[in-house]
Parts: sequence; structure tokens; C-alpha cells
Amino acid sequence: MAGKNDLKMILASEGVKYLESASEKVPWSAIDGKTICLFFSASWCKPCRAFTPDLVTLYNFVKDKGENLEVILVSNDRDETSYREHLKTMPWLAIPFNLNRYKRLVRLFNIDHIPALISPSSEGNSVDNDVVGMVEDYGADAFPFTTKRIRELKAMDERKQRGGVIEDLLAHSGRDYVISKDGRKILVSDLKGKTIGLYFGAHWCPPARNFTRQLNEAYTELVTILNQPFEVIFVSTDRDQEEFISNLSNMPWKAIPYEDKTRKDLKRIFNIKGIPTLILIGPDGKIIGSNGRAIISMYGAMAFPFTETRIAEIEDALREEGERLPSKVQDPKHIHELKLDMAKGYICDACRKQGRFWTFSCTVCDYDLHPTCVEETF
Ligand SMILES: [Zn+2]
Ligand SMILES: [Zn+2]
Repeated sequence: MAGKNDLKMILASEGVKYLESASEKVPWSAIDGKTICLFFSASWCKPCRAFTPDLVTLYNFVKDKGENLEVILVSNDRDETSYREHLKTMPWLAIPFNLNRYKRLVRLFNIDHIPALISPSSEGNSVDNDVVGMVEDYGADAFPFTTKRIRELKAMDERKQRGGVIEDLLAHSGRDYVISKDGRKILVSDLKGKTIGLYFGAHWCPPARNFTRQLNEAYTELVTILNQPFEVIFVSTDRDQEEFISNLSNMPWKAIPYEDKTRKDLKRIFNIKGIPTLILIGPDGKIIGSNGRAIISMYGAMAFPFTETRIAEIEDALREEGERLPSKVQDPKHIHELKLDMAKGYICDACRKQGRFWTFSCTVCDYDLHPTCVEETF
């Protein structure tokens, strides 16, 4: 990997005599003393088009802060015309268009995919090839892209993940509230001392829609009826603001505003790989577990406050109940023998009411009885 002092030399030996912006030629002296990033990109490349606005935001933010950053486009566009159009979308500089030179630079800097953003001036080479991911993950905070900076950011993530201070996790210097569906702002500090579920979901995802209903049931029972110290914060992965608003309109709990970067931060901090996911956080701000979805869909409101102790209590009680029941019964209401079984949910064929967990179930047809609705004395 080439170092800071080599960059100009390398480009000079590649025949680059000057740089250019969208509107004019720019002399080499324009980048003296600056942190330089080479940006390998092409307008035909969809990930490049998706990444460029992130980089523009970072570039403007960092420049406004008075940092000496310069980005130099190394274009892989099809021709000079598309290169010119491409450069117009960027506030930074470029190396004059030359595809043969592009190929040589790609080899020289070990670029195996675009977009690639490398900062040959970064101390330590380990992050040099990963700056795109760093910018995608951390936005403007990624600057100046050094190994030291990535270590700091990761340490910050880990500290937030370990938890303890709910404001660190859910708020930042520009926002100290979460929102409700009617547009109310609720201070994050008011959530202190509550058990919190961070709900990662989206309306386009059928399992998430299904889980929203289950969570809604548990939430209503816990918060509206029993007045328990529980709150859910929706972290949307809806496709756009409109979908988010319509999704939130079915939720009685709170949400991180759609446009806020915390949504992305929370996904990264808790390493969210799929939705729906419910991360449970205790009243002390520390994580209880990431299996909230399974707990809620299995036990609903009775699992509150979702601690290991509470779950063990429920499971022990269920086991004891099961041990008291016979493994088979013959009930006069049904022709076949019924076997003791465990089900997440069923409708009892005697009383027509919902049942959960233990059931006497027919193995031949779809027939269930509450243990209490079995008439046969065992
Ligand atoms: Zn029944
Ligand atoms: Zn049957």
C-alpha cells in the first residue's frame, strides 16, 4: 500500500499533470497538506450511485468543520462524456479520465470492487480498503478513516451495547426524544427505569406484521391494563418515510424518528441481521436479551419483566402442570384418543375459547381440548 508522500509521485508517474473539478482544471498545489481519499467509482455502478450521496454528506460536513479533506475521483465510466456527467454529481476533484490508467491504479491499490474509497494517508493499512463500509456505517463520524478512529467508533458501539445509560443508546446531542404515532415527543430521559423493547421491524415484512400484532397484545395488557413500567421503541426498516408513518399508525408505542441516524446506529450496535427482532433492555439500561420475539410470541405479557428468572419460573410451572396431567385421555366428546401436547395457541373444541401451552389433542383430526375441558376422569 502506498503512503502519503508517494501518492503524488505515483500519480505523476502515471502521467497525471493536473486534477480537475466539474468546471475547471485544478493544480496539484490545491491538495497540499490535505487528507486525500481516492474514490474509485463509475456512474453505471448502482452501489456507487447509492454511496455517492453518503460521501457528499460526509465531505460537506467535514469541510464545514474546517478539516482538510479532499476526495479525488478515479473514474471507471464508459467514456469521457459519462465521466463528465458523473463528476457533476460530486463536489470534489478528479484525475482526468483515462481507463488504462484506471486499470493500473486499481491493480496498484488492490481494488477488487467499486465503490472503493481509499485513504493512502491513513496510519495503519488495515482500514484502507474498508473505508466505504466505514462511511456507510458511521457517516461523517468515520473521518479521518484511521485505524485509531475505527477503534474509537467500535469502542463507542460496545459501550452502548453494554448499556447502562438509555440516553446514550436512544438519543444524541441533536435529539433527546422519541415520537409516538400522533406526533408527540416523549423525552428519552422519561424512559429511565422502564423495561424497554427495541423493536426492529418493517411493514413490508409479513413475519414482522404478524409479530407487531403479538407485541401489540402483550403491550396493551402490560401498559394499558396493568400499568407496568414497559415501553417499546420501534426502530423502523421501512422503505421510506411514508411506509414508516403508516406502519407506526398501528403501533401504540414509541419510535425513533425515521430520518434519524440512530436507526442505523442501533442496527449496527445490536448486529441486527433480520426482522422482526426484539431486543429487551432492563430498567438498569442493560441488555436482557435479543430473543424478545421468541419470548413474546411464546409467553406474551406473562413473561414480563422478561428476565431469565421469570422465564425459568414460567417454564417450571408449565413443566409441573404437565407432570400432573396424564399423557392420554379418552373424552366422551370425541371419538379418538387425545394425547397431551404443547401448543403456542389453539382453539378449544369444547368451550371455543383460546388455549395456550398444554392441550389434549387428537393425532388424527384437528381437535383440541383445554385440560380443564376434558370430562373424562383420568
Ligand atoms: Zn375449553
Ligand atoms: Zn380425532
